[in-house]
Amino acid sequence: MKRYTIAVRALCEFTAKTGDLDLRFTPSPTAQEGMAGHATVTARRGSHYQRELALAGDFGPLHVRGRADGYDSAAQRLEEIKTYRGDLTRMPDNQRQLHWAQAKVYGHLLCASQALTQITLALVYFDVGSQKETMLQQEYSAAELKNYFEQQCERFLQWAAQEMAHRSARDAQLEQLAFPYAGFRPGQRELAAAMYTASKRGVCLLAQAPTGIGKSVGSLFPMLKAAAQQQTDKVFFLAAKTPGRQLALDAVQVIRASAALLPLRTLELVARDNACVHPELACHGESCPLARGFYDRLPAARQAALDVCLPAQQQRILDRQTLQDIALAHQVCPYYLGSELARWCDVIVGDYNYYFDQSAMLHGLTVMNDWKVSVLVDEAHNMVSRARKMYSADMSHSSLRVLRKIAPEALKKPLDRVQRQWNQLVKEQQADYQAYAELPEKWLGALQTAASAISDYQNEHPTYNEPLLQEFYFNALQFTRLAESFGPHALFDIEKRAGRSSAHSDSTLCIRNIVPAPYLAPRFQLSHCSALFSATLSPWNYFHDLLGMPDSTAWVDVESPFVAEQLSVKVAAHISTRYQQRQQSLLPIAHLMGQQYATQRGNYLAFFSSFDYMEKAAQTLAEHYPDIPQWSQTRRMDEAARADFLARYTPDSCGIGFAVLGGAFGEGVDLPGARLIGAFVATLGLPQVNPVNEQIRERMDSLFGAGYDYTYTYPGMQKVVQAAGRVIRTQTDRGTVYLIDDRFGRPELRALLPAWWHVE
Ligand code: SF4
Repeated sequence: MKRYTIAVRALCEFTAKTGDLDLRFTPSPTAQEGMAGHATVTARRGSHYQRELALAGDFGPLHVRGRADGYDSAAQRLEEIKTYRGDLTRMPDNQRQLHWAQAKVYGHLLCASQALTQITLALVYFDVGSQKETMLQQEYSAAELKNYFEQQCERFLQWAAQEMAHRSARDAQLEQLAFPYAGFRPGQRELAAAMYTASKRGVCLLAQAPTGIGKSVGSLFPMLKAAAQQQTDKVFFLAAKTPGRQLALDAVQVIRASAALLPLRTLELVARDNACVHPELACHGESCPLARGFYDRLPAARQAALDVCLPAQQQRILDRQTLQDIALAHQVCPYYLGSELARWCDVIVGDYNYYFDQSAMLHGLTVMNDWKVSVLVDEAHNMVSRARKMYSADMSHSSLRVLRKIAPEALKKPLDRVQRQWNQLVKEQQADYQAYAELPEKWLGALQTAASAISDYQNEHPTYNEPLLQEFYFNALQFTRLAESFGPHALFDIEKRAGRSSAHSDSTLCIRNIVPAPYLAPRFQLSHCSALFSATLSPWNYFHDLLGMPDSTAWVDVESPFVAEQLSVKVAAHISTRYQQRQQSLLPIAHLMGQQYATQRGNYLAFFSSFDYMEKAAQTLAEHYPDIPQWSQTRRMDEAARADFLARYTPDSCGIGFAVLGGAFGEGVDLPGARLIGAFVATLGLPQVNPVNEQIRERMDSLFGAGYDYTYTYPGMQKVVQAAGRVIRTQTDRGTVYLIDDRFGRPELRALLPAWWHVE
């Protein structure tokens, strides 16, 4: 057996976790709070205290390594520091046992390295709220600890042997992996080569690659191929939306179908709300049967899940349904089984947030296990807006008022304090909207106190379950966490909304991230290679700057497989869609549509900047061209209604579908051939000029010297190109796009259109 390296924590989680899954002792502190807590505790220790002690030891082929939190050589005491929030007595026993297991393994490694015969082990629990420590201590002989260490290793050895066999079989197959199709599609080879080179060089990549070249296979194949040579542990394939996950799973299926012996373990991560089979229950053994004895049944479920991936067996992908079937067969929770399997799978498909948000699971596992990972980010033009949301928080006064009324007596005082500070802020603000350079410290202090009071109350009343209070609590935590890292990358603003009376007026307080770079840059640095790809990643510096991509990031603009003759692009320069001229634009737009439809009957999409504009345009067309069939997007369309809208687009149907740019039909819609032959884009897609966007513009100007473009032009034009991109999906498609606005004639905007378009 070759050497198998495992982190102390991962070893103990595998061997020493038993009993129920129990999430009642949550929310746990964030990674930042954890680090700050550790720093506080170790700063309190004396000069003979060694911090972050690197320790390692071997047992047969197993190499166990990690960093013990601290060692007091004078007291001969090894400390394992754990940060927590809430009531320590409510910590589940099995969690405490796990902490002792880690301390004992570190204890053995230290005794062995320093030839100690005796040691004191201490669990130091640090309350991030009160900043108080609770220390539990126990004496051990070196012989006892050695014995314990060997027992844990013995338990893991069989699994390690299986993992190593899997890894070498996987890498051997990946090394010989051939492209799954007879040939590359045009553009696909260029994309694949850029991905492969980026992985080989260990750099990030921004890849603009048009639709229709087979991006999913074109990105996953080279990353897998490189994995064997680069010794990459995992590939994370991250998507913005559910259909994107399916495309990734389909790509895995294609690759595996062409490599019958490839043992590629692939997992789909699904949000807890969607994976849970008992949404009416809580995640602990007293409530949910799938949490009861979870860790006792986990080993069999884990093995069963990995077995179905084997080529000799079913060669299945662990998608949502397969995972649920296995979980239920073993009576364990499918969601938490999925989280466990992320440790053992090769390709993990999930939403962006699994790697990029504040407490992202895949990021946490990568750090803990020191994995070498490649990260693929599909439809990456969504990353800026998605990441901004991950690192923003807001709170409305009206919800605080409602909560204040229904809150238990014990919480009224701290909530009142928040409300008083809030009223003061609103009173001092003259304008309806204002952004501030500083955070309101007094209000934040009151919010922090209220959050601690809620946490205490919930600990004392574990059956109390008021969703509004929960929501407020989680919001308050998010606010206080983001406040710690507040800086030029974010705005703090207050928006006031007048009502019929003061009782009906409202206000919102918001920490609004506008440049996610400081949060995302460490994630890119941690990965071996992160490749972001989309049909619209221009200009690349916009994404590079806002997302915090390393300076070594490579950039590729893959040539389109489509040719200018396929798409007739016309600018309707005689029409202005500016707000003031919208009314006058309606009739010319209707005539334009009517004439195009008369010239070429078929299916069209028409995009507008708002529902209001869209509805008026649809009405005008109906009045003047009543024979043209039409259908419209509606506000808050559910999935079924969206499917109905798209079902109107058949190879034999004709008509115009009205939609809002940047909405459900502006991207991710695939209507090849006669299902869609043209689009009218009656807007530049510019975000509304409002006080928030103006603040963003100012900040973008000071940070990047390109305020207007970074706030308005680039996000708008990306939506335009995405929407127009619905028309040509294959090399046999033909179509027409009308860009309706005189400003589309400007050279700086033309420069943002795909190079293969020929604007007539
Ligand atoms: S099934 Fe649902 S309630 Fe039960 S443990 Fe899983 S997520 Fe929690």
